[in-house]
Amino acid sequence: MRKYVIMGVQGSGKGTQSQLLAADLDIVHISVGDIFRWNVQNRTKMGAQVRRVMAAGELVGDDLVESVVRDRLTQHDWNHGFIIDGFPRNRRQAEFFLESYDIDGVIELDLPDSEVRRRVLNRRLCANCGVDYNLIANSPKVPGQCDLCERELTTREDDTEEALEVRLRDYHEQTNPALDLFRRKEYVITVDARPAPEVVQRDIRQRLGLPPMAESDHQAAKEAASA
Ligand code: AMP
Repeated sequence: MRKYVIMGVQGSGKGTQSQLLAADLDIVHISVGDIFRWNVQNRTKMGAQVRRVMAAGELVGDDLVESVVRDRLTQHDWNHGFIIDGFPRNRRQAEFFLESYDIDGVIELDLPDSEVRRRVLNRRLCANCGVDYNLIANSPKVPGQCDLCERELTTREDDTEEALEVRLRDYHEQTNPALDLFRRKEYVITVDARPAPEVVQRDIRQRLGLPPMAESDHQAAKEAASA
């Protein structure tokens, strides 16, 4: 059983790195942001509650976030463990988590703010098949159109300059203290998130003492690198 937390600013590759690790270790990837986005897309009551906060790049209230995490983890579909992404975002959430679960490691993806801005503001998404594009490293063949399903690409509602500044400020002011709490317990490994995804993944595994990536996952990482 392995329980990991992955932390890093928007655009640092938390989703990609979590998925690679989850596929290989057969653990469940839990993204709190994805749970909220699903609720917004499906117009649930919770979605209505969080939509405006998310679009502004602000943090959802701790009580709601903690109940979402608790509910998700009580599903117990994680026999081999989990990697949780986007949580905790502040000290209170970190304390809640430490009280309830023991953790094997916290992965911090380190990316300078200038690179975050470059990545996030150039990110495009296919809402139909979920593929991420990056207009710097991997533009779609036809501008604005998904290579796979040919639907129109969109921008995440919170990938605007204004929302990004709020998220960066919150990260430095609120999430860093949560990381400090984990650091004191010597859980944290910090990995440079600037290289290509497969390099970042290799570094994560080395630092966590895990075996190198399987060949099939290596291919997936390369595809993520060109995405
Ligand atoms: P993410 O995909 O992790 O960037 O999350 C998208 C948005 O969901 C954030 O900008 C917040 O509005 C909300 N959110 C996700 N996780 C949390 C959390 N742990 N605490 C508060 N808000 C969160």
